Amino acid sequence: MEIPKEQMLYCKKCNTHTEMKLKAFKPGKARTMAWGTRKNKRSQKDGYGGKAQFNAIVKKQTKKPTFVAECSVCSSKRYIVIGKRMKKAELSTA
Ligand SMILES: [Zn+2]
Repeated sequence: MEIPKEQMLYCKKCNTHTEMKLKAFKPGKARTMAWGTRKNKRSQKDGYGGKAQFNAIVKKQTKKPTFVAECSVCSSKRYIVIGKRMKKAELSTA
């Protein structure tokens, strides 16, 4: 699906709709010492008789496309999540 690169979206700072430029969102690296990461690691370790418990992980085939929108007036950024799963989401060049 093609998504327009420039959209009129609501800006919190300007309190109106402004023209916003969309960019692809890249998630950052997971912190190894974060509480959730340590908890997940701990839960995989323990089990009956030292045998690790592993639940079958079924990964979803698609992702909800996420973008970073930048305001053209005040250049503040916010996330745009399209609430529909799709295999491919491209920003249209036009
Ligand atoms: Zn703004």
